[in-house]
Amino acid sequence: VAARSEFTLIRQFFSALGATRADVVLGVGDDAALVDSGGADLLVLCVDTLTAGVHFPADAPADAVGHKALAVNLSDLAAMGARPAWALLSLTLPAVDADWLTGFRSGFHRLAAAHDIALIGGDTTRGELAASVTLAGFVERDGALRRDGAHPGDAVYVSGALGDAAVGLRYWQAGRRSESEAVAAAIERLHRPLPRVALGRALVGLASATIDISDGLAADLGHILERSGVGAVVEIARLPLSPSLRSLCSQAEAAVFALTGGDDYELCFTAPPAREPDLTRAAAALGVAVTRIGTIEPEPGLRLVDDNGRALPLPRAGYDHFGGGR
Ligand SMILES: [Mg+2]
Repeated sequence: VAARSEFTLIRQFFSALGATRADVVLGVGDDAALVDSGGADLLVLCVDTLTAGVHFPADAPADAVGHKALAVNLSDLAAMGARPAWALLSLTLPAVDADWLTGFRSGFHRLAAAHDIALIGGDTTRGELAASVTLAGFVERDGALRRDGAHPGDAVYVSGALGDAAVGLRYWQAGRRSESEAVAAAIERLHRPLPRVALGRALVGLASATIDISDGLAADLGHILERSGVGAVVEIARLPLSPSLRSLCSQAEAAVFALTGGDDYELCFTAPPAREPDLTRAAAALGVAVTRIGTIEPEPGLRLVDDNGRALPLPRAGYDHFGGGR
């Protein structure tokens, strides 16, 4: 498995698996699946697992694990433009620790309640610490945001700021956890990401393609490009960097974190330039920063340029669980 990428693995073993059903609108290969259950809206379904030591530090606070287990799934629904509704939780625990479970519960509950999500079932089992959440929601029949709709000439945008979580992880792992407010802010983004559900809803009818940034901008934008059969040029000087990230690393390091760092859970999306005024209005109404970082082009692949338009090498690709890591 080690040499095989996660995406090759999915394509080879998990696409066209099981029966072919007419009610599957969109199957394996996007942030979430779309199925037609006969209602006014489509059902949107996703599942994501967090494993201790892989997706979160084994010594992360319990409430952060509860929060993040739901947040990563909410982010996938956000990337579809969906309204979340129900969650199922499968929890694997090395031992029953009431204090840890109280923390996990409170982190999960706070985020679920804020998004009107009910936990409706699940499973607990013994083993290495892992939390797997299945999330379901709704999206309008012709409204889902997908990865395959980007067209040459579309502008490329990202929400919020990029790279903080990856820097937070570095400080957490180094045991330098409270040396400044900037470090605390980066670690907070690592542990308690805030998925862009409201922005995803606002992008319905506006964005041509959308993905959430879980594995790093370069890798995740790459999925939009691949699925849409297009390429993109990204201007490195336009990448949105938070004040804390800027204070913690050099400009060059910050750009690498922004391009390749995982765990930001911002949205990356494309839209025709004519929609920019609507987009700006929608983002302002939500109080979410949205930054134009580049343009979709016909030629496949992702190209980086500096502020003089000179080509820059692409830093190593994002997190791929089966491809040898970061
Ligand atoms: Mg995703």
